[in-house]
Amino acid sequence: MENPKKFHVAILPCPGMGHIIPHLEFAKLLVTLHDFQVTFFVLSTDASAAQSEFLRSQTLPEGLHIHHLPPLDISAFVSNSTEIQSRISIIIRESIPDLQSAILNSLDFPNVFIFDFFATDAFEIADKLGIPKYIFFTSPALELAFMMYLPTLDREIHGEFIDLHDPVPVPGCTPIRIDDLVDPLRNRTRDSYKWFLHHASRFSLVDGILINTCQDLEPTTLKALREDPILRQIPTPRVYPVGPLIKLDKPKTRSEYMTWLDMQPNDSVLFISFGSGGTLSAGQITELAWGLELSQKRFIWVVRKPFEEDASGTFFNVGGEENDPSQYLPDGFLSRINGVGMVIQSWAPQAEIVSHSSIGGFITHCGWNSSLESIYNGVPMIAWPLYAEQWMNATMLTEELGVAVRAGVKREKGSVVGREEIERVVRLVMEEGKEGKDLRSRDEEFQKILVRDLDEGGCSYNSLSEVVKEWKGSTGSNLNIENT
Ligand code: UDP
Repeated sequence: MENPKKFHVAILPCPGMGHIIPHLEFAKLLVTLHDFQVTFFVLSTDASAAQSEFLRSQTLPEGLHIHHLPPLDISAFVSNSTEIQSRISIIIRESIPDLQSAILNSLDFPNVFIFDFFATDAFEIADKLGIPKYIFFTSPALELAFMMYLPTLDREIHGEFIDLHDPVPVPGCTPIRIDDLVDPLRNRTRDSYKWFLHHASRFSLVDGILINTCQDLEPTTLKALREDPILRQIPTPRVYPVGPLIKLDKPKTRSEYMTWLDMQPNDSVLFISFGSGGTLSAGQITELAWGLELSQKRFIWVVRKPFEEDASGTFFNVGGEENDPSQYLPDGFLSRINGVGMVIQSWAPQAEIVSHSSIGGFITHCGWNSSLESIYNGVPMIAWPLYAEQWMNATMLTEELGVAVRAGVKREKGSVVGREEIERVVRLVMEEGKEGKDLRSRDEEFQKILVRDLDEGGCSYNSLSEVVKEWKGSTGSNLNIENT
């Protein structure tokens, strides 16, 4: 007897590891837990060395198919100064014809289409197919609530947001401090702001929004998204918290760093990593190196060459940049740290490292995936935000959840955190003082809660089951793409 056709989901993530990784975890879950078939589209234009290597190294369940779209040339639309949000949006816009023909050429049309939140221009494909469209939101719910409300703020507030005296209100949620606003909000005349607003104003068009967070991490914001009359009226689509979706399976090969970690005592090693894009200035790298040495703690540091202008210097090219740490780390550092610290060039198996029992702290740029990986593994954080919504995340992690302390990073360009401050905060987290102990016990408490939320019957598990039920109840493809 022929196997019945499986429910087919198409997923379109934006380029960037912080988008690819959680989308892929979500795709795996649909296949393994709900027996779906998933087509996962990958845009090749900015495929970094790390992205290609990551996708190659994955063991994918049967039923999850990665479809690489042909490389795009977007050089006519971008320059060196084009910001991340604009660049991603342009890539998506320019890839629509290829995406459309990839779907047309396949005999198997999807039943549901899931888009990254910067991929709203590709909604038209789902509309032409006559299938439901959803967003998978890879940042926290507070960022989502803020974006839902942004078109209103845009109409009501004149001048620059950064000139306001009070925090920016978001109905039913914690107001957002001016200093914590995402980068595109800092200058409304820039293209990145226009793109950001463009996507935000299209969120209302979808059938639902799946989000990589959970009820226990953001109860107030999720309640506001569900119930606040102002947000409801926008209208805000139904929001399904299905997280935290983080990478749990181990890489096929075990690196030398993992073997080194095996030999260290529990909770004794500090991990330092600034996500896929994060870079520091030369002066800051020097201070961080000295701060680590002064603290005399064990550490593993993912080092990137210095960037003076842009804190997201490797977002599109992580692993592809030239990187010789002896050129920019302090003289003699690499030999002095021998046995106590390790440096990894450019890219590391982060999720695997953070989950190792010897990791006791994490200096992180507070990207949402890194934050979730840390909380899920009960690892206290030192918040070192650099770009995007990381400032807002740092405030949530330190002041609302109490799972991180701040490293004292200032948003002003050129500011540097000194070595003594770094030494102080590293000792605070890694030693058994009261503050460090409190932090660790809150992290461990959250760890238990998050594991429960994802388990059968937990709130995130149930939330995904609900949306799956809805999809299965909806009608399939009603093709309307003209084959021109
Ligand atoms: N990551 C990794 N190795 C690295 C740096 C980052 O595996 O050396 C992974 C990390 O585990 C996380 C993602 O890349 O899953 C980064 O996402 P996040 O939202 O933290 O930050 P972004 O890179 O989007 O700023």
